[in-house]
Order: sequence, then structure tokens, then C-alpha cells
Amino acid sequence: MPDRYDAVIVGAGFSGLYLIKRLRDAGFSVLAVEAAPSVGGTWYWNAYPGARCDVESFDYSYSFSKELEDEWDWSERYPGQPELLRYLNHVADRFDLRRDIRFDTRVTSATFDEPANGWTVGLDNGDTLEARFFILAGGAISMPNFTAIEGRESFAGQIYHTGTWPHEPIDFTGKRVAVIGTGSSGVQTSTAIADKVAQLTVFQRTPNYTAPVLNHPLTPEALAEWRKTSGERHERSRHSRQGIPYAFPTVAALSVSAEERQEAYRNAWENSHLFALRLTYSDLMVDEAANETVSEFVRGRIRETVKDPVTAERLTPRSYPFATKRPCLGKGYYEMFNRAHVRLVDLRETPIVRITPEGIETTEGEAPFDAIVFATGFDALTGAAARIAITGRDGLTLHEAWAGGPETYLGLASAGFPNLFLVTGPGSPGPLTAMVKSIEQHVDWITDCLEHLRAQGLAAIEAEPEAQAKWVEHVQQVADGTLYPRANSWYVGANIPGKPRRFMPYLGGLGVYRAKCDAIAAAGYEGFVLSGPAALPELATERDQRGGQIGG
Ligand code: NAP
Repeated sequence: MPDRYDAVIVGAGFSGLYLIKRLRDAGFSVLAVEAAPSVGGTWYWNAYPGARCDVESFDYSYSFSKELEDEWDWSERYPGQPELLRYLNHVADRFDLRRDIRFDTRVTSATFDEPANGWTVGLDNGDTLEARFFILAGGAISMPNFTAIEGRESFAGQIYHTGTWPHEPIDFTGKRVAVIGTGSSGVQTSTAIADKVAQLTVFQRTPNYTAPVLNHPLTPEALAEWRKTSGERHERSRHSRQGIPYAFPTVAALSVSAEERQEAYRNAWENSHLFALRLTYSDLMVDEAANETVSEFVRGRIRETVKDPVTAERLTPRSYPFATKRPCLGKGYYEMFNRAHVRLVDLRETPIVRITPEGIETTEGEAPFDAIVFATGFDALTGAAARIAITGRDGLTLHEAWAGGPETYLGLASAGFPNLFLVTGPGSPGPLTAMVKSIEQHVDWITDCLEHLRAQGLAAIEAEPEAQAKWVEHVQQVADGTLYPRANSWYVGANIPGKPRRFMPYLGGLGVYRAKCDAIAAAGYEGFVLSGPAALPELATERDQRGGQIGG
């Protein structure tokens, strides 16, 4: 007999852990299935050198428990991966969450059983679970893009992907290392290993806009002050655009003098946080000429920093507006290219031909390496769901339903897939916000929804196709009013060959989104079909007959 639960959750990272906590507190039986041997999700897998969150600790931690907040002392302004992993382990222990997690296991399939109004969930060890609700919390940026380069298997040295980094120490001392990719992971890895390696070669396809990361230890005074004001800080973040407590500007870049703009950009650069430059003026992401002023400011910093003008030019992003691809924070990134043992290969001029047993061959010849690091990103937003064979009502698969791009209502549900929820899914603002605030909003909304269904004796909830179509259109319209769709970013799926191009995150902002979700719930889950009054008691009866055992 399969184990039965009210909810089966994919993943035990920030989303999965909070789902277990909320759903269990609300009296639901839950099981999270986690591929890793431990909790942490993103922060388990991305254990690469220099991995660090570029949202501040205070805004990248749970806000649901004041006790948790009061007992956890963040050590730095930007939390490093080891500290984030310790934090999530602490959360799992403190709230006794591990007993509802099955580790070292992957969900391979999920099939909606219409008469039972529930899901049959297949695991890679051959086990089957049954659940009323199936919740995809496997991460928005979690499916590594191990980009297909001919000859990879033939390489005799070590090969890594930043998103599946081994947990044993890797020593690059004295090695010749290649890093392919210059997104956030590539920037962090390169700068972290540059001091140790004998030779570092960075393979760049598209230059990024990278601002300096100004990290510092958090003093006891700073922590005390945060704890005093955190309630208000969290509340401001929850209703902000990006899930952070900083106000959105009201002044347009083009309405002030060039000198005033430079001063504002310089301040933002020097007090850097991920959104600092973007939050200098209101029109940067909607007006090309306004954006050009901040893009050019960053280009100026690159020219100022990188001594060799040819390398500086190669590092200079020109093909897309600032922040339409996610910008990076880096510690001495541009400075790194002034060092004799660090080399930049511009793949636009000299593409990779193949990986050989000894190294990497580009059109300018072969270079030998001891190790190659793929910092080539992720099949974002849809990749984690796509690796599971999901079949909804009438045999409709998620692959078929999303063949032209992901179709969701609020990024939370998809028509044809009753009782399936997504956390930070495509069509939600998640990926363009400080993730933890978005995750808490999603999980709270889903929990409230399940409680509503239970209170009403309902068994199923499903997005209406019309409501979904309107939401998809709305997401698109909002994006089209901005510069964001211009870049070949993972926001549009352009980093994955063959992926349909569609701007996936909702750009209306977390606060607006929260208000919409709340209004929809208050109106009796407008845009959803709620059904099946008889089914829940039946499930309960069956459980009772099995001695009240609902799962492990
Ligand atoms: P990414 O931003 O998608 O960057 C991947 C890099 O690999 C890009 O430079 C890309 O070039 C390059 N690339 C991909 N395929 C390639 C190929 N076939 N040949 C050569 N180059 C190739 O991935 P990421 O750096 O892992 O970051 C993903 C997201 O995770 C970030 O945007 C961020 O949201 C999050 N993240 C956050 C942090 C943090 O908080 N500090 C750290 C890491 C990641 P193109 O640009 O030409 O595609």
C-alpha cells in the first residue's frame, strides 16, 4: 500500500521547510521528498567556492518566527552558503521538520487520479505515495544547465557544475582552472579561487554588469537594532516591489542633471546592494535612454578598473540594457583581470569547438586545464517541474500543457492540474524579488487555501483556463512595458536551446501580487474551480480504517 498524505512536497529548501512547518501546524499530514541527503535546497547544492547570497541576511531569512530570528545571529551583511546551510539545518532541527522529509530520494512522476481527487507520486526508489495535494517546491533556479559541449566526457581532469558542487573540499591550489560562464555563479567562483590557482581562464559568452559587493561583519549593535525594528522592516518588504525594505524611487533619471545622476550612481555603487543601482531612479527599467545612463556608468567603472583596454572592452556589456539580465555582485571581479595569471576568453570572438582530454579547444587553439568549472546556469523556473513526469486530468501532461511556454494562474497553479501548487513558479514575482519573502507569501497563501478547502469540505481546486489565460497575458503585458524582455536571459528561457521564449517572472512587484492573491482568496478563490465535496471525508474514512495512519 502506498503511503498517504494530505500533501506531498517536492524539495526541502527554504520553500519545502516552511511548507512542512505551516501545513503541519495547520493539522495536515505532509511529506517532503528531497533529492539531497540533507535540507537546504539551493544552499545545499550550490556549495561552490565563494557562494554567497547577494540579498542581505536580514532580508534573506524567514520572518515567520520572532523566536527564530532572536536566536540566530547572522555573522555578515551578505550570508555565505555555509552559513545559510547552517541556518536551514537549524530551522529543520528547531521545528523538528526532518521527520517529515524523505532524503536521498527524487520524485520521478506524479499522476492525478480523478475519481480520488488526489495525486499518485512515484519515487526513484520505486515507492509510490498518495496525496491530496502535490506541491512543487523544488526551486526556481535548481535544474543545472550542464551545457552540451562536444567532448565533455573525454576530459581527463576534474569537471564541476556550480549547481551540483561536491561537499568534500576541492583544492584548486596550483591548478590550471577554466571557468565557463560569467553570471553570478561564475563571478563568485572565479573571484574566490583566483588567489589559489596557478592559472585562471574565464570563458565569457556575454559580459555581465557586476557591481562590487561590500560585505562586512554584523556587529552585536547592528543585530540588536535589526531585532528591534525587524517587524516593520519585514512588513515594508512584504509590500514592496522586490521583497526588500527599500523604497521605489519617484524621480526619473532623465529629469535630473548628468552630474546629479553620476553622484546617485556612485553612491549606489559604493553602498552597493543588489538593487541599489536599480533603485536610484524610477525609469531605469522602462526607458532605454534612462537605462543607458546607468549602463554607461557601469561601463565607465569597467574602463577605469581594467588596465588592458582590449580586455576592458571584452568585459563591457553593450548588447542589452543594465539589469535586464540579473546583474552580479562580485568581490574584485574586474580587478581580477589585471592579474597576470588570469585570462579572459571572449567566446563571441573565439567560440569553444570541443573539450579535449587535456583541456578546451576554441577556434584560436587548445589550452590545457586541470579542472573545468561549468558556471553555465540553470533551466530556470520550469526545469525542476519538467524533470518530473506530471500527468493531470484527462491524461494531459505538463510537457504538453507548457509546450509553448509555462501557463500558470498567479504562478501558483496550472489549469488541468487540480490540487497541484507551485512555489515561486513561472508567472510569480519570485525570481525578481528577495526569494524568502516571496516564498513566505506563496506558502501562506497555499496553506490558507488548503484550510479553506478543508473547512468547506471541498476536495479539489483547479485554475480556470480563462483566468489563467488572462494572467499569462497580464504577466506578458507588464513585462512588455519594461526593458526586461530585451535580453537573452534565463527570465525568457533564452539560455536553454529550444526553450520557448517567454518572459516568465511577474514584474508587477511582490506587494501588488500579494494584494491580488489576497483579493482572489477573499472573493472565494476567484478564477479557480473548487469542487468535490464528498471526496475528503472518503479519504478520511479510508485512513480511519487503516488505523489512523497517514503516512510515515
Ligand atoms: P546564469 O546567470 O544563467 O549565468 C550562466 C553563464 O553561463 C552566463 O554567462 C552564460 O552566458 C554562460 N553560458 C551558458 N551556456 C553557455 C555555453 N553553452 N557556452 C558558454 N557560456 C555559457 O547562471 P548563474 O550564474 O548560475 O546564476 C543563475 C541565477 O542564480 C542568478 O541570476 C541568480 O538569480 C541566482 N544566483 C544568485 C547568487 C547570489 O545570490 N549571489 C549566486 C549565484 C546565482 P550567456 O549570458 O551568454 O547566456
